[in-house]
Amino acid sequence: MSFDIHIIGGGLAGSEAAWQLAEAGLRVRLSEMRGGGDNTPAHETDRLAEMVCSNSFRSDDAENNAVGLLHQEMRELDSMIMCAGHEHRVPAGSALAVDREAFASEVTRAIEQHPNITIVRERVDALPDHPTIIATGPLTGSALADAIAAETGEGALAFFDALAPIVHRDSIDMDKAWMAARWDKGGKDYINCPLDKEQYDTFVQALVGGEKMPFHDWEKDTPYFEGCMPIEVMAERGPETLRYGPMKGVGLDDPRTGRWPYACVQLRQDNKLGTLWNMVGFQTKLKHGEQVRIFRTIPGLENAEFARLGGIHRNSFINSPRLLDGELRLKSKPNIRFAGQITGCEGYVESAAIGLIAARFAAAELRGEMLEPPPSETALGALLRHITGGADAETFQPMNVNFGLMPPPPGRARKADRKKAYTDRARARFAEWMGKPAVAKQLEEAGAR
Ligand SMILES: Cc1cc2nc3c(=O)[nH]c(=O)nc-3n(C[C@H](O)[C@H](O)[C@H](O)COP(=O)(O)OP(=O)(O)OC[C@H]3O[C@@H](n4cnc5c(N)ncnc54)[C@H](O)[C@@H]3O)c2cc1C
Repeated sequence: MSFDIHIIGGGLAGSEAAWQLAEAGLRVRLSEMRGGGDNTPAHETDRLAEMVCSNSFRSDDAENNAVGLLHQEMRELDSMIMCAGHEHRVPAGSALAVDREAFASEVTRAIEQHPNITIVRERVDALPDHPTIIATGPLTGSALADAIAAETGEGALAFFDALAPIVHRDSIDMDKAWMAARWDKGGKDYINCPLDKEQYDTFVQALVGGEKMPFHDWEKDTPYFEGCMPIEVMAERGPETLRYGPMKGVGLDDPRTGRWPYACVQLRQDNKLGTLWNMVGFQTKLKHGEQVRIFRTIPGLENAEFARLGGIHRNSFINSPRLLDGELRLKSKPNIRFAGQITGCEGYVESAAIGLIAARFAAAELRGEMLEPPPSETALGALLRHITGGADAETFQPMNVNFGLMPPPPGRARKADRKKAYTDRARARFAEWMGKPAVAKQLEEAGAR
């Protein structure tokens, strides 16, 4: 069969993208290397949309949770991943967890049976010249990864992430922290959290004693590049190591004491909105619970809310803010779009969501139309904007959807009502974008009450 568009990778993103394009009446060739003699180190079957680790799509609460809101938006866009997830859900409180085998079988069957989709069990090693969506995920085949790296230039494709925690700006106690740059060079660009000797010593001991996440067998050769060594590994090298590394206090005059602190944690702005700040040099393999416990001992971060916790994993992803346009096209080769985790979103749901919107953009383009991107106040729009330009390209690392990616709602809602203020507004903006102004108006009026 000849085809209108080629999708490479039949994971969460590629399956959703194939479905959306086929439902739009376009003929799709879906190339998936599993089942054709190749595999990734994490997949165990040749089913499409295999969930390689947990069986959860996380919170399904669309009122108070950003990923729950993303679920809702995807359902409104007829997401087949959300539909199959719902069909095969298992009890998990307010989360959407699924029977992974039944789920992947259902997705595979639906895609196989769609008259507009041809699945080809093949590995693709080069960048095609026809309309294509690359959705090869965090474990992209190495020859294709080399081809992407050759097209995009040195350093634009990463093979490991090195995640430092990211903190919501409004949860930092600025009575203890202050804004300044080291030696007062440039603007007051960093948030600085000072530690005295006792606080520092206790902190270093907690890092050394903290429980760490194990590496998968196939991740054991993870290279610790200079500059992205886990902080606990630095702490293990000696009590002073961090004080001469990412926790240096020199050149930072604390306005409360007029002196340099014994040690200092710096946070740097992570998105254009200024709502998210990353802890500079704090990539870590500590367990998530341990990170929250230990990092909240840092003065100023006692009540920190984390938009992302630290980690180091094998993960192929491109520098999307630099390489992609607002419709997920590769600027240097616009017949190619990227979708899924390889764009630097993180998670099953986010990957499928970016597959969905990449497909909708591609379908519009193939029909000679233009699709307005979803507004940045919506979960899908916020995630899309983050990876295609809202994030800082210099420090870009994979990210889950979260409220910090959206512009803060106007006015000062009580803390308990803040999440609802985000989701009420998102629903109204989403309805408007879907061409339902009457629904949008109703939602806005209900939100204002
Ligand atoms: C070990 C591990 C654990 C994870 N655990 C979770 C978790 O618990 N929860 C969560 O939300 N997210 C998790 N993720 C992150 C991420 O959400 C998933 O990897 C998700 O499956 C990404 O979706 P995707 O469609 O982008 O990629 P994938 O689902 O990985 O799909 C990519 C597909 O492309 C195929 N492919 C690769 N290269 C080629 C090629 N050259 N030619 C043809 N086909 C190719 C692969 O075989 C694969 O089927 C995990 C990631 C990893 C690596």
